Amino acid sequence: MHVGMFYSRAAHWLGYGAAAWAVGCATAAAAEPATTLQRQVNQAVDLAYEEPLRGLATLRALDASPGRPAEQHRIIQAGIGLIAADHAMADDAAAAVDALERLSKEVGPLAHADALLVRADLEMEMGDTIQGSRDIVAAIGGYAPYCDAAMAADRLRCNDFDWFYANMFAGVTLDSAATRGTAGMYLQTAGAIAHRADRPDLEARAAIYSAQVAQEENNLEMSDRLLQRADVLATRSRDASAQEFVKMFIGFVRQDRNDLAGAQAQLEAAMAIASGAGHARRMVELAAFMSQLDMRQGRPERALQRIQRAMPQVEHGHLEGLKQQLVTNQVLALLQMHGVEEGRRVLRSLLDTLDARSTAADRGEIIGKLGNALAAAGDEDGAMKLFQREQQSLFAGRNKQFERTMLDRQAELGARQQAERRAELRRWAALGACVVALLLAATAAVSWMRLRNRRLARANDALRDQSERDPLTGLLNRDGLLRGLRERGRLDEFAGTLLLIDIDHFKNINDTLGHAGGDAVLREAAARLQACVREGDLVVRWGGEELVVAILSSPFDGDALVDRILHSLAASPIAFQQRTVSVSASIGYASFPLDGDAAPMTFDEALAVADAGMYYAKRNGRRAAVRIARLPRELLVDLGGLPAAVERGASRGSIELRVRRPATRDSAFAAAGLPAAALPS
Ligand code: GH3
Ligand code: MG
Ligand code: MG
Repeated sequence: MHVGMFYSRAAHWLGYGAAAWAVGCATAAAAEPATTLQRQVNQAVDLAYEEPLRGLATLRALDASPGRPAEQHRIIQAGIGLIAADHAMADDAAAAVDALERLSKEVGPLAHADALLVRADLEMEMGDTIQGSRDIVAAIGGYAPYCDAAMAADRLRCNDFDWFYANMFAGVTLDSAATRGTAGMYLQTAGAIAHRADRPDLEARAAIYSAQVAQEENNLEMSDRLLQRADVLATRSRDASAQEFVKMFIGFVRQDRNDLAGAQAQLEAAMAIASGAGHARRMVELAAFMSQLDMRQGRPERALQRIQRAMPQVEHGHLEGLKQQLVTNQVLALLQMHGVEEGRRVLRSLLDTLDARSTAADRGEIIGKLGNALAAAGDEDGAMKLFQREQQSLFAGRNKQFERTMLDRQAELGARQQAERRAELRRWAALGACVVALLLAATAAVSWMRLRNRRLARANDALRDQSERDPLTGLLNRDGLLRGLRERGRLDEFAGTLLLIDIDHFKNINDTLGHAGGDAVLREAAARLQACVREGDLVVRWGGEELVVAILSSPFDGDALVDRILHSLAASPIAFQQRTVSVSASIGYASFPLDGDAAPMTFDEALAVADAGMYYAKRNGRRAAVRIARLPRELLVDLGGLPAAVERGASRGSIELRVRRPATRDSAFAAAGLPAAALPS
């Protein structure tokens, strides 16, 4: 909803501009039937901004007219899909995606690209920003051979509207720290498409989002220049929608920079234009924003009035998301006015209205915001319950992403609760309701833009997180470990404790339980391992059934950790489909710098040392951990020869090893004839 409005609903900001598109960009082909149809479709998408059902009906009627070639069905289905996705009509959007995929067999890759575009829009609408970003980039790849000026041989088939839309969408979607450069490129392309087509209204929108990118890069001067340019372009276009949009956006930027009066003026100007043009939906959006601004200025009554005025307009049409935003603001305003009790009452009724239709993303944002407001108002328990309730319903459902967000929020709140919160609350109580109201106003004033940024940042983190996790065990993978080490400066100079853990006779486990059973054992072993370490320790699936643990704090008692791990693996056999296997591991480990060794080692060297310890355990009965405490430095010259050198050195006494094993171990290790000095005391 609120967030989506700003970035995921490309048709919202493009819709108005679509109608006359074909005039500007394809006059040469005006007689071509597909182009006429494209114009009709664009017009319907345009109409659908305010009246989705009418837009859909128009397109369905077009689709039903007999004798259409497949290419025309493609154009129509793309329009249907975009409208549906844009208004969170998931079933209709999915049906359009299916139709497009079927059509792609006849008309080729463009239909597939359309399907991806619709899917991306729907995914973003539903809060799956990761998949949405992937699909939008894939869609652009599909359009480029037809639409990109440099590549296209067959531009007649390109619908410049979709091409512009896809580029804008990608630019806005990818606009977060890691992908900002790419986002800028897409937005530039979008601006160029609009410019070539002589569409200042659309060029203005591209400029707005470029300004947003510049702002996020802290290039305020550039951002201001782009905003100004957008304003000029929008005025020149005489397009009310573009003007409203630009003013609204400038309003946000002003608000974000604490220029509340400036923000107010922009939003009022936008409201006047929207009202003159009869843009009901935009008026509701503006009312929602302005009510936030009211609260931030300490005027909850005005916010409430505004919301009440907007409410009737929300009731008709597909404005669910906006309705939730308004009701959320209503609760915040009531909290600001009357304190917790009244707020809680309204909150309860709001939660009941958050039905199946609201996306997990929406729920997450609303609950998070309200929970924070409750906490700020002194009702921490209420906030905690709210998070817990939401978490339960999410556990019952299937949205992992937001389950995680809720957990994060809860953890965050819990931590805060323990720390400075209590003292702070006592102070608030003393200062009275007035201060609470002020603080609430600050909470309520979190701008949509900020929320949007946070959501994008989360998506980005999640994307990165995903690429750095092993899907089977959920542990970090190599890339994840290496980045963790690099960020802490431990790649070139490793300091800390390193464990290399290799499960014993894993091939036998696979033979006994089958490969799926082996997988289950790996997962369980990973879970037990994870339970042995503390937050912040890096637990990694290094490969196959080899796991690495890196503890970067020092001094650290690696022996105690190793005992925990050995014990945890040995404690109970692992079950899989009515069968069980006992699992043990061979572990090599060391704490760096090694005893009597002041010079640092690289991570690769440290890992080779741990590996040599592991190898030694393997060669001497397994089911044990071998610590390398001291090692002549010259052995590092040949890392490949280290295991053999360690074995030689151990029997000669020139290398200091310490061996640990699980309490219930058999006597294999002692029987392997280790040097007495190496046995644990
Ligand atoms: P040991 O380490 O005690 O010497 O014997 P091992 O049987 O564990 O020997 P090794 O480390 O050489 O073999 C590891 C086996 O783990 C080989 C491979 O088939 C299996 N393996 C690796 N990755 C996976 C996985 O993801 N799932 C399953 N089920 N098996 C895996
Ligand atoms: Mg192995
Ligand atoms: Mg093994």
